[in-house]
Amino acid sequence: MSNQSFVARREAAVSRGISAGLPIYIDRAENAEMWDVEGRRFIDFAGGIAVLNTGHRHPKVMEAVKAQLDRFTHTCAMVTPYDSFVELAEKLNALVPGPTPKKTAFFTTGAEAVENAVKIARAATGRPAVVAFSGAFHGRTLLGMALTGKVVPYKVGFGPFPAEVYHVPFPNPYRDISVADSLKALDTLFKSDVDPARVAAIIVEPVQGEGGFNIASPEFLQKLRALCDQHGIVFVVDEIQTGFARTGKMFAFEHAGIEPDLVTMAKSLAGGFPLSAVTGKAALMDAPVPGGLGGTYAGSPLATTAALAVIEAIEEEKLVERAQALGERIAGRFRSMAQRNSLSVIGDVRNLGAMVAMELVKDRDSKEPAADLTKALVAKAAEKGLILLSCGTYANVIRILVPLTASDAVVDEGLDIIERSLEEL
Ligand code: PLP
Repeated sequence: MSNQSFVARREAAVSRGISAGLPIYIDRAENAEMWDVEGRRFIDFAGGIAVLNTGHRHPKVMEAVKAQLDRFTHTCAMVTPYDSFVELAEKLNALVPGPTPKKTAFFTTGAEAVENAVKIARAATGRPAVVAFSGAFHGRTLLGMALTGKVVPYKVGFGPFPAEVYHVPFPNPYRDISVADSLKALDTLFKSDVDPARVAAIIVEPVQGEGGFNIASPEFLQKLRALCDQHGIVFVVDEIQTGFARTGKMFAFEHAGIEPDLVTMAKSLAGGFPLSAVTGKAALMDAPVPGGLGGTYAGSPLATTAALAVIEAIEEEKLVERAQALGERIAGRFRSMAQRNSLSVIGDVRNLGAMVAMELVKDRDSKEPAADLTKALVAKAAEKGLILLSCGTYANVIRILVPLTASDAVVDEGLDIIERSLEEL
């Protein structure tokens, strides 16, 4: 088997609407390493796009899922429910900080969790409008796309989008957008385009994922919380990319000491098994009529069993603390690289725990985004055995989502590859 043979077959068989990814076809994976069909080894700094905080095939998750495979694989929780469906809801209600009592609803993808958070907010408030942010990414469904800020490639040719969705700028100190600028835009929006009494929800990523690992300051999240309280708006925090220890807290909003009304989760929740959830105030969660939420596969027994094991592994292995140490290790290395004159293409290094970003620019002073260089770095690193992922409004940000279970030695090996690749470009 060769990678090349799959590349041609993929092109013939799979819609070009789905990004082709790297020409590397994976045969097997273990923790933070993968091997392709040609037997080459790769270090995984992409973590399946934020899905693998507990690494590939975590032994605890494997054991739990294998046991579940031997019991049953599907019944549909809306027909005949099962233990892990209830146990995981109880676990998330206890795990997500915020006012009690809480309740949870399960879905399958991140986009669905977002869609349903908006449905719940609308059902609870009877209001239509939703406010999101520039640079936001909330998924590829029609409402997910409407909430998403970036047009290319997510929204091209897919309109019209659901109405009553408004965007305001997300703070970005590196690009000179302050918290005050963002709040002023929100104030203007409320005065000119939409009466806040018509807004059901404000949805925000505490660290924008696809948008470039832009970090919302505690002050910004606190101000949004206060505005939502003032106007009776449901505050939805999208933790799909940031959740489950990645940022050095179980959930990224904890850095701001706030309590959202609804939290959306997916990705690392079930360590590779498709599962998403909305957890929040019971009064809001119970607003939809019975049967209004759900899905055939929503909260599948394999996924809920995996999620229970993932959460146990995070707690037992202290991955919250590990994320902090890992973040310092990676960001520290990037920061020292950025000081070298030969690497003046490193424009900004930012991190919240182990959610680390390196912004590549034409040069330090102009800050002009260098998308081509970013693409070249991803390709060069792959040649050397490292899977990297880019993101950002200008496609010029390298984001690190290495499993939190990776050893220092493997992380350092990956960082060495980044450094050598950048020097060679
Ligand atoms: N919300 C955020 C913050 C995300 O990062 C993503 C995916 O990248 C989504 C929603 C959509 O999740 P999914 O691709 O599982 O639908």
